[in-house]
Amino acid sequence: MNVHDSEKIAGIFDETGYGAAVDSGDADIIVLNTCSIRAKAEQKFTSELGKLKKAKQKNPNLKIAVAGCIAQQSGKKLLKRFPYIDFLFGPDNIGSLNSLIDGGNGRTAIEHNPDYHTSSIPMKREGGLKAWVSIMYGCDNYCAYCIVPYTRGRERSRPTSDIYDEVKSLAEEGFKEITLLGQNVNSYGKNLSDNIDFPDLLRKIHDIEGPERIRFVTSHPRDFSSKLISAVRDLPKVCEHMHLPLQAGSDTVLKAMNRGYTYSEYKAKIDMIRDADPYMAVSTDIIVGFPGETDEDFESTFQALAEIEYDSIYAFKYSKRPGTEALTLPDHVDEDVKSSRLTRLLDLQESICYRKNKVLEGKVVEVLVDGPSATNPNIMTGRTRSNKIVNFEGDEADVGNSVFVKIVEARMHSLNGEKM
Ligand code: SAM
Ligand code: SF4
Repeated sequence: MNVHDSEKIAGIFDETGYGAAVDSGDADIIVLNTCSIRAKAEQKFTSELGKLKKAKQKNPNLKIAVAGCIAQQSGKKLLKRFPYIDFLFGPDNIGSLNSLIDGGNGRTAIEHNPDYHTSSIPMKREGGLKAWVSIMYGCDNYCAYCIVPYTRGRERSRPTSDIYDEVKSLAEEGFKEITLLGQNVNSYGKNLSDNIDFPDLLRKIHDIEGPERIRFVTSHPRDFSSKLISAVRDLPKVCEHMHLPLQAGSDTVLKAMNRGYTYSEYKAKIDMIRDADPYMAVSTDIIVGFPGETDEDFESTFQALAEIEYDSIYAFKYSKRPGTEALTLPDHVDEDVKSSRLTRLLDLQESICYRKNKVLEGKVVEVLVDGPSATNPNIMTGRTRSNKIVNFEGDEADVGNSVFVKIVEARMHSLNGEKM
């Protein structure tokens, strides 16, 4: 979502006549688009900002701006702490960028804008192959650990016609993969006057000629419906991959997290997905060390991973976030306990990933080719419809195309193959 916001920031710069600097030392303006989902992201930001202080001393005309969730949450406090920041703006105020550049120093634009979903902002997308499209903004779920509802505001669904028009113009530009973005795509349409939900939206988007693949993130398990599974099964362009964040396998922890489902309710949804398509890849997000998580609670998460056998996971140590409910909960877990739990989960998942990839050896898969690998220009890299990374010997002509590749070697996090 942040990367997509950066495309909007770049789009506004482009339209105003600013080009991208080859080197940050040549830039007139530098915008740090920040994430505050975990403390680590904030630490990265402060370290980058430290480097920019020196750049500003060298070139006093350089403007430094901070965008995103840290700007939204810290506001004027950030300007006070780092007086060399020229201006800042939150995720709902990207459209104010031009007026901020022209205005005086110390300006902020961090008011939540309930109408942001209807504003149209130019975008500069890289690559011409894959595009993100926002279908909704904000979040109303208030999971106890999460900062998003505070930084990105209330949930708003974008009008269907705006989404349709954007995908249509991406199709005309030749984009082949569209990823629909929202914090909880399964509640799409709730605040719209048209009677439309997410599966209906998928069907509408599917009718647009051009794109070969449609993906979406993120599905909240509570609102995940059999209607969505039917849509995914019926619509050939919708890829066989679901990201369904579990967060924890213990019902006590899920309740404290305010997730709105139990593990058995979640597992029933996984079974529903696999009954509809046994080859559907499923990935998840896990938090270890949520306040109050006991050894038994963690074992439930460990067992859940062993039982479900995800194709991939994103696992994080719980990170304290200002203003969230979890911060006030008792029994915060020690960092070293969190670390050892995380290591155990990742070790388990590595063996599952390898085993699942091994099954693909000898099979032929369709790969949409992203480009040459970072380390070898003769090796092309791309993704299967199930979102697995495949590397194979190829050439520049493959880039941007779908090719068939026979898998010859399974690795932990990728597959090696031969082009057919
Ligand atoms: N809206 C999505 C959902 O509900 O599943 C998730 C969006 S969130 C930006 C991405 C992931 O970050 C979450 O699924 C969660 O696992 C993780 N996350 C959020 N807050 C966190 C925190 N305070 N500490 C650790 N991980 C966190
Ligand atoms: Fe955060 Fe929960 Fe909203 Fe996802 S659903 S963005 S985890 S509050």
